[in-house]
Formats: sequence, C-alpha cells, structure tokens
Amino acid sequence: MPSSNIVVAHAETGLVTAEVVRADRISPSFVRLTIGGDDLSGWRHLGFDQWFRLAMPIAGEATRFDRMSDRFDTRGYLKYLALPKATRPEIRNYTVREFRPDINEMDIDFVAHESEDPAHAGVAAPWAVSLPVGDRVALIDQGCGYRAVTGTDRVVLVGDESALPAVLGILRDIDPKSSGHAIIEVPELEDRQAVAAPNGVDVQWIVRQPGAHPGAAALDALRELPASATAGPVSAFVAGEQALATGGRRHLVNEREVAKQAVDFCGYWRQR
Ligand SMILES: Cc1cc2nc3c(=O)[nH]c(=O)nc-3n(C[C@H](O)[C@H](O)[C@H](O)COP(=O)(O)OP(=O)(O)OC[C@H]3O[C@@H](n4cnc5c(N)ncnc54)[C@H](O)[C@@H]3O)c2cc1C
Repeated sequence: MPSSNIVVAHAETGLVTAEVVRADRISPSFVRLTIGGDDLSGWRHLGFDQWFRLAMPIAGEATRFDRMSDRFDTRGYLKYLALPKATRPEIRNYTVREFRPDINEMDIDFVAHESEDPAHAGVAAPWAVSLPVGDRVALIDQGCGYRAVTGTDRVVLVGDESALPAVLGILRDIDPKSSGHAIIEVPELEDRQAVAAPNGVDVQWIVRQPGAHPGAAALDALRELPASATAGPVSAFVAGEQALATGGRRHLVNEREVAKQAVDFCGYWRQR
C-alpha cells in the first residue's frame, strides 16, 4: 500500500527565505522555532495542515539557498541533488503551526526526537534542539494534504506527535459548526497543547506508554470509536508514523466502509 495519497500543490511564490528569530523548548518532546523576515510577506497562507519543504543550513554560513529550485518536483529534486554537497542545505518536511501575516512570522513545531545511535540522530531534530536563533532557512510551499469532503462537516482526525501541528491546524480552520473526533498521541502528558476546536469535535489526547510503537495507541483509539463516528459522510485525515497512517486508512476503508477518497493519509516518518 502507498504511504500517502496527499496531493502536492506548489504555490507560485516558490522559494521563500527567512531567519530563525526565536527558539523555545516548549515541552518535553517539542521545540518551537519562530521564523521571520520580509520575504515571508510572499508566503501563500492556506492554514489547515499546510506543509512545506524546509531547507536548513547544516553547512553553517557556507550554505547556499540561492541555487535551489523554487519547486520540489522531480526536476527541482534533481537540481538539488546536483548542488555541491558541501554547501547545499538539508531538506525535511514540516507543517505551519501558526502564521502571523501582520508581522511576517511563522511558528514551526519540531518533534525533538533523539537516538543514541548517530546513524539515527537525524538532521532537523538536532538542528532545532540547538535553538538556532539567527540561522537562515528556505521554504518551498507544498499546499495542504487535508481535503474536506463536500456536503459534510463531520471529521475524524488522527495523528501522532509529528502530526500534532497538522491536526491542530485542521481543528483551528474547519467550519466552527463541525462535529466528530480528533485523536492525538504524544510521548508525554506535558506535550499536550491548547486546542482551538469546534465545540462539536471531541478531542482525545493519548499519552504513549514507554516503549510502545509510536502511533499504535492512536490506531487502537481509532478502532474503538463508536460506529456512529464513521457512519455516513465524513472527512478523515490520518498522519504520523507510517504504520499509523496506513493502518488507519485500512481500518477506515476496509472495516468502516469510509470512501477511499474521503481519507487523506500520509506516513510522516518511519520508525527504524
Ligand atoms: C507532510 C509532512 C508534514 C510534517 N510536519 C511535521 C511537523 O510539523 N513537525 C515534525 O516534528 N515533523 C513533521 N513531519 C515529520 C518530519 O518530516 C520527519 O520526522 C523527519 O524525518 C524529521 O527529520 P530528521 O532530520 O529529524 O530525521 P531523519 O533524518 O529523517 O531520520 C533520522 C531518524 O530519526 C527517526 N525519526 C524521524 N522522525 C521521527 C519522529 N518524529 N519521532 C521519532 N523518530 C523519528 C527516523 O526513524 C530515523 O531513524 C512531517 C512530515 C510530512 C511528510
């Protein structure tokens, strides 16, 4: 099964550059970086789970953003690969947590995952954990993965911590008359964040047991939703660790008979 069915919709604005202006460890598992700068005035703000390719200056001040393509399609990716390794940025996928167009600022919430094995340390997480105020970054908008089904305001939204920004963004921006269920799994109780959600949506936070596979408890909670949660038209979104995304989609389509096109799903990362 594919790990995602989300459709990439680049903005005309192309590559947007910014600078990290604030960096905070907001909870045990999250770092929030705020980026700012005049170039952000060109950002196409869509809300919901809008995501982007984030280019980070892992090569330090020698990093060159200027030769990157302004799209991240196959051509843009090949162009990126042809750039000299010593000066090209590293790229990972992130979600807009908040955008403040009046002051050209954007918040990004990074899961501060760690590994004792250097081969699994990653790039984005350690960079964010270093609280890199002053670093320059570049963003390539990719649009939204969530597509509301026409004719219903009922939702089922499921995510692990990597999809917390996406699920909270969807809850913030859907019709306030919406109803349904949101399930968000986090590593620690203190990782829960304030939620701006329609009154009719039941938001369930789940704290993972130590050693459990990320996303497994969220998948169990999805399976335990009453039949009424998915009877009739519903817009569903499942994202996070690969097994949660594909397992959630399989459950909704095969066991709940939710229409395939009503389920947007995406493996945001894969446990190794
Ligand atoms: C559309 C989309 C939107 C996303 N939005 C966000 C977001 O807003 N915030 C966010 O934190 N992530 C988000 N992600 C997930 C993020 O892109 C991945 O977690 C990415 O792998 C992190 O890069 P890295 O350099 O830290 O680790 P990588 O170099 O990619 O991986 C290194 C190691 O870390 C492990 N790893 C990667 N991610 C995690 C994790 N979350 N928890 C535990 N172990 C991990 C991998 O299994 C691997 O062993 C999003 C992904 C997609 C596709």
